[in-house]
Amino acid sequence: MSMQTVGRPTRPETTSQTAPEDRAVGLLQYEPLIFELGGWSKTGVDLPDAAPGAADDLGDLVRTTPIGLPGLSEPETLRHYVRLSQKNHAIDLALYPLGSCTMKHNPRLNEKLARLPGFGDIHPLQPQSSVQGAIALMDRLAHWLKTLTGMPAVALPPKAGAHGELCGLLAIRAAHEARGDARKRVLVPTSAHGTNPATAAFAGYVVEEIAQTTDGRVDLADLESKLGPDVAAIMVTNPNTCGLFERDVIEIARLTHAAGAYFYCDGANFNAIVGKVRPGDLGVDAMHINLHKTFSTPHGGGGPGAGPVVLSAALAPFAPQPWIVSEGGDYRLIEAREGPAAQAFGRLSAFHGQMGMFVRAYAYMLSHGSDGLRQVAEDAVLNANYVKARLQDLMSPAFPDGPCMHEALFDDAWLEGTGVTTLDFAKAMIDEGFHPMTMYFPLVVHGAMLIEPTETESKAELDRFCAALRRLATDALSAKDDTEALERFKAAPVSAPLRRLDETLAARKPRLKWTPPAAPLPLAAE
Ligand SMILES: *Cc1c(COP(=O)(O)O)cnc(C)c1O
Repeated sequence: MSMQTVGRPTRPETTSQTAPEDRAVGLLQYEPLIFELGGWSKTGVDLPDAAPGAADDLGDLVRTTPIGLPGLSEPETLRHYVRLSQKNHAIDLALYPLGSCTMKHNPRLNEKLARLPGFGDIHPLQPQSSVQGAIALMDRLAHWLKTLTGMPAVALPPKAGAHGELCGLLAIRAAHEARGDARKRVLVPTSAHGTNPATAAFAGYVVEEIAQTTDGRVDLADLESKLGPDVAAIMVTNPNTCGLFERDVIEIARLTHAAGAYFYCDGANFNAIVGKVRPGDLGVDAMHINLHKTFSTPHGGGGPGAGPVVLSAALAPFAPQPWIVSEGGDYRLIEAREGPAAQAFGRLSAFHGQMGMFVRAYAYMLSHGSDGLRQVAEDAVLNANYVKARLQDLMSPAFPDGPCMHEALFDDAWLEGTGVTTLDFAKAMIDEGFHPMTMYFPLVVHGAMLIEPTETESKAELDRFCAALRRLATDALSAKDDTEALERFKAAPVSAPLRRLDETLAARKPRLKWTPPAAPLPLAAE
């Protein structure tokens, strides 16, 4: 089922007062909570009555108040979950251009392999002799992550990109402390992903911003003026969140190292350079790789993820436990090691990391091969440049000069005087059947619209997407003298059961708990 609409969608006005059943749109149903849906006396299973006297065996444990679980029949249950599954846009439904998030197709082969009993049904506390294949796979994955990045070590435990950032900074801190050189500041460019300054602050560092040049790169003069003996690290995203390669990355590394600091690279955008550039050759000391982005795992809605961190020779001794060792085909995860390599900062997580993502990422690597991985980067960049080229006569690119990497970034200069905002434009995309692009990020670009088409979209799908955006952009530009056109943007989305929600309120005061109606509920048996 697609929400794709032809022409301008119209539908009756709905408000928060509208009865829920009237909020269904086309085949997209409004769905109440399962507690509101379920009757207390209904059930999907038919259990025999308890044997006479059985309750006596329970003594004090006999329930005297209702359990409060909603009863639903089997078809009601199925429909509830299928309808819920349609509440979110999905990469399996249409292109999902959410910049920085790399919402690309996740090959089903990976899913099949991750569910093999030898990977899917094992437990971290099982004897290691019984999970040799799983540990061997982690070792092979580590090998390819090191090979692709040109780095000598990798820590597999981090469970997401942000967790990888924490792992990298903890290793950096351990390295400074081992030299008796505790440092206080971490430098982060203004265009950084929000997780970078958040992680540095969480790790106890003072965060300081590095300015950006007018062409969207790190301002070297500003970096140089801020580097000093108390700077522990710089955190630079490359390619950066403006979708641009940091041309001066080698000079950034040189200046950083000259000041005795480490170069942390946010590698979440690795799909733009995999197989083309090795971060180790650029002077990077630590970099997380979002396996769930670059090497594919379904990751909408906050998980699951895996953010292994590759480390330079200087930081490798400080990698967290456990480590994988292999001797004569026997694989082991060890907790302690001797010699200069024994300076681990500790443990980052209870076990070894996200096994399911390891399998998916390794399957993705093997099925692509080195040529295929290089083509991933080439296609990611080609697709973004195609989108930029198709839209730049109507919409204003934030950095018009030269090609972009894997993301096309527009600002809202082209909307000036129309009354339409970036938010209105993004909401109108929902009515066209597409998920909005990333909005208002990076913060350094006014009204930013960050489009990442990803490498898995065909030219036909990119054309369909660009045609929809061109239609919308033309309408937005006409809104200057056409109140009806303006109204349409202000009202968008019209083809969703719920329209504009108060996102700030939802984030600040989420209502996560359902409160039962005040009247006492009868026991199901009554
Ligand atoms: C996604 C992303 C992150 C954070 O990764 P999570 O896995 O969501 O924690 C960090 N930096 C950039 C540039 C990203 O795109």
